[in-house]
Amino acid sequence: MKKTRVRFAPSPTGFMHIGNFRTALYDYLFARKTGGDFVLKIEDTDRKRFVEGAVESLISSLDFLGLNWDEGVFKKDIASEFENGKIVDSKNYPGIIEAGEHGPYIQSEKLEVYKKHAEQLVKDGHAYYCFCEPARLEEMRKEQQAQKLPPIYDQYCLRNVTPEEVNKKLKENCPYTIRMKISKDETIEFEDMVRGKVKFNTNLVDDQVLLKSDGFPTYHLANVVDDHDMKITHVIRGEEWLSSVPKHLLLYRYLGWEPPQFAHLPLLLNLDRSKLSKRQGDVAVEDYIKKGYLKEAIINFVAMLGWNPGKGETQEIFTLEELVEKFDFAHVHKGGAVFDIKKLDWINAQWIKKIPLDDLYEKALPYYEKFLQRLPSPVRSTGHPLPVTGEEGKKEYLKKVLTVERERLTKLSEVGESNIFFFKDEVSCEKDLLRWKDMSDEDLRGSLANSREVLENIPEGDWTRENLEKSLMEACEKHYKNEDGKIDRGKLLWPLRAALTCEQKSPSPFEVAWVLGKTESLKRIAIAMEKIK
Ligand code: GLU
Repeated sequence: MKKTRVRFAPSPTGFMHIGNFRTALYDYLFARKTGGDFVLKIEDTDRKRFVEGAVESLISSLDFLGLNWDEGVFKKDIASEFENGKIVDSKNYPGIIEAGEHGPYIQSEKLEVYKKHAEQLVKDGHAYYCFCEPARLEEMRKEQQAQKLPPIYDQYCLRNVTPEEVNKKLKENCPYTIRMKISKDETIEFEDMVRGKVKFNTNLVDDQVLLKSDGFPTYHLANVVDDHDMKITHVIRGEEWLSSVPKHLLLYRYLGWEPPQFAHLPLLLNLDRSKLSKRQGDVAVEDYIKKGYLKEAIINFVAMLGWNPGKGETQEIFTLEELVEKFDFAHVHKGGAVFDIKKLDWINAQWIKKIPLDDLYEKALPYYEKFLQRLPSPVRSTGHPLPVTGEEGKKEYLKKVLTVERERLTKLSEVGESNIFFFKDEVSCEKDLLRWKDMSDEDLRGSLANSREVLENIPEGDWTRENLEKSLMEACEKHYKNEDGKIDRGKLLWPLRAALTCEQKSPSPFEVAWVLGKTESLKRIAIAMEKIK
């Protein structure tokens, strides 16, 4: 069997759209699953939509998300990994290299190649020069609209301009385009890997411009030429390109090349089933990265926009490796895939719980730094808002906070927010918040004294969540068991938790006391006891 070769072919028109990333991800999964090659090429022939820096940012996003590719366009710093392949500096993008045997991998760098093919198509009678001016085309379109006809070129130049006239106009340097001559009255049929058999009648297919008057090819010509040059076996892309396939298949036929297989991925939809758009939320992968979604979660979520592991499978959390193992086109849906941010939040929350603490800490630290900067001053008397000193102390403390917070976080940008009491110099609250149900002041003081005794008796070295929980639970049993044998834990745990946090809601007192440490916990209990004198 021929080696699978797939390509991701983004246009540098801005940040990477979630839909584009899904294409890249399915490319990657399919290439890795089949032991094939994954190629990154750049489709930059649309100069009007070109955005400076977009190529670099596309590469960075793919890099960040960990989808490595084998060939094509890279940033310079990885050049050493390609000792055996051909590497050239990109002509048009400083800092970018192209590695592989099938380049150039950037369309603006192979204009001559496309032009040569366009001219060959003219010679072979599959394309023709068109000298129609924009005004005439506009007029034609309006008329077609008025008569409710499909908006396709009326073949004026094919029918009315003689070969002699063409030569004359070319000599006179008249602006021209080259159009494809679509054979009419034909049904083009192909098997899409997602959609099954697809048919198009060529009478509805426009005589597509292949070469524009500025000498640049259109997407259609460049795309087909590249995929052939790069020996691409499977073209995987969004559904919006489905209607281009008949043009592409005719080009393959006219050029005498074997076409690849096609897979057109379902549209991405907003919750209301309209096409996914910026108006209803962020659509750039970068936006999600910035907000503190983990790459593992983004990959997991995006993989499931249009794919599932099959009937009866309940697994929803997948590593990239698991996705490679499970992915197949049989389980890619035809129907639109709804982008549900709640699902992304849930998947992210699972991944925040799942990845190793050290790894999570590295990722969370920038968000803690920002959070600490947002905290109102004055900060603690120690000079920073943590009950510890030094960089190591800070790291250790934040890791503990994270250990507790990760169980409840949706995204990293939320760190600190719901647990501000970990970062306060003084917590001081109303007496009533400390009170459990209708406890008297005396009972309340007694309860805090009981907690104080428990905590005082745990040596610093044994200050673990488990020990705190065990000792406090034993104290509940000792002090707050009713005649009927029921233990009212709230009598001990509520006042303690409230004294430590001064919040209605927070993680358990075991977790909070563990993070705060012995000294700070006892200090907060003492402050609370002052209140009930
Ligand atoms: N440049 C196109 C895009 O960004 C790629 C289409 C294709 O894969 O053929 O959507």
